[in-house]
Amino acid sequence: MPLTPDQQRAVANHLRSRAQPPQCPICGASNMVVQEEITVFSTDDEDAPPESRISVVCKYCGHVLHFSPSAIGLSLE
Ligand SMILES: [Zn+2]
Repeated sequence: MPLTPDQQRAVANHLRSRAQPPQCPICGASNMVVQEEITVFSTDDEDAPPESRISVVCKYCGHVLHFSPSAIGLSLE
C-alpha cells in the first residue's frame, strides 16, 4: 500500500525535525525525496510478519535510505 500525500509530508516533516537539512550520507546533497511506494522486507523467521520500510531517495546520486514507520509514528494500516 503506497503512502498518501499526507503521510509523505509527515515523513518529510519528521526528517526535517531531526536533521537540518536531511542530507544524503553518500554525496551530501540535501534533495532527499520521500517515495510513495513502501518497501517490504521478508524476514528469515517465517512466523514473523514482513517488515515495511519507508524509502527516501537522494535525487542527486540515487542512494536509498529506509526508515521504520513505527519509529516515526506512522501507521500504515
Ligand atoms: Zn546522494
